[in-house]
Amino acid sequence: MLNPPKKTIRDIDVSGKTVLVRVDFNVPLDIDRNVVDDTRIRGALPTIHYLLDHNARLILMSHLGRPKGQVVESLRMVPVGRCLESLLDYPVVTLKECVGPRVKEAIEKNPGAVILLENLRFYPGEKENLADFSRQLAELADIYVNDAFGTSHRAHASTVGVTAYLPSVMGLLMEKELETLGGLLEDPARPFVVVLGGNKVSDKLGVIDSFLEIADTIITGGGMCFTLIKNMGLEIGNSVTEEDQIPQVANAVKKARKKSVRIMVPSDFVVADRFDKNANFKVVAAEAIPSDWMGLDIGPATVDKYCSVLNGAKTIFWNGPMGVFEWPSFANGTESIAECIARAVATTIVGGGDSDAALRQFGLEDKMDFVSTGGGAAMRLLEGKKLPAVEALADI
Ligand code: ADP
Ligand code: MG
Repeated sequence: MLNPPKKTIRDIDVSGKTVLVRVDFNVPLDIDRNVVDDTRIRGALPTIHYLLDHNARLILMSHLGRPKGQVVESLRMVPVGRCLESLLDYPVVTLKECVGPRVKEAIEKNPGAVILLENLRFYPGEKENLADFSRQLAELADIYVNDAFGTSHRAHASTVGVTAYLPSVMGLLMEKELETLGGLLEDPARPFVVVLGGNKVSDKLGVIDSFLEIADTIITGGGMCFTLIKNMGLEIGNSVTEEDQIPQVANAVKKARKKSVRIMVPSDFVVADRFDKNANFKVVAAEAIPSDWMGLDIGPATVDKYCSVLNGAKTIFWNGPMGVFEWPSFANGTESIAECIARAVATTIVGGGDSDAALRQFGLEDKMDFVSTGGGAAMRLLEGKKLPAVEALADI
């Protein structure tokens, strides 16, 4: 439960109102500017349908890419609007601006369409959270809805500034993200097993600290586990490590002992003679990493050991690939663990941009109970930190 609880679109009357909805339509485009992956657009559909079904007029807004406060032709919202229109089966009018008289006029002239504003980040006021830009956005509508969980850790005009001027509530995707991820820190079914991988241990120490309060087992892999292994006094060759994080890692291990949380590290690795897709590679025990080789994936014995733990879990949270899954020689560990999670009887929740990409690469995305749409925001939430865009919404 959110503390304090926040209003959703179900708590207010939207009938006959114009509703400004912050969505996360920051989708990948190909070279011809077609939407390559419409997951994020589909994620906002429940909120959009709910509002249309309840007789609201809709103005949607999002950022796309990193235009740095100026117009970048290749980052206009037009292809996103086209994609939305085909998914929604309802007319969508995509504008070339976000604020001002021409925008107001277009909204008036198209009462039977969903309006999609231009890329918010064409305006410097967006990231700078300027009052003037926030107010101009707010002038377009009667109610503000935030459904963009993926940007909720950022205080921008469209996520925080605008809430000063309109009644502000969350959409259904935002609600689902907060409930599902937030629920992990409250009362997860046990055993609760957390799988952490990815590149840097420094990125993960915050969530490790949170999960040490509630998880039963933390399984580690990826580049981040080498700082743990180094802390155990083992040699890790050229594997990625953050020496300056060893004291923090040692503290986490101490806390784990106190809280009776088991932290597991790999017992074998796929090591490579260089950081390269075509590097030579072999499987070695964790104690036997040759000094000029580097661990780029967990090994088969580790996969077996981890899978038997995952098979007994009732809740699994996974963030961070087990190896350099982008390269086929080092993708086995991540794929095997993802398959194991997919088969597990547990409630399975995944967070993190690269973890999501890995799931998609292996065709396993639909096999998870929930895949978060917000990488950075999900991690912030799981670290137990406040999300400014959520804080800014109206309390119940
Ligand atoms: P997420 O986006 O899911 O939170 P991260 O960004 O933390 O995940 O980490 C993903 C990256 O970690 C991937 O690009 C992957 O190649 C890299 N990685 C995984 N294992 C290793 C390793 N052993 N050595 C170097 N990089 C690794
Ligand atoms: Mg990442």
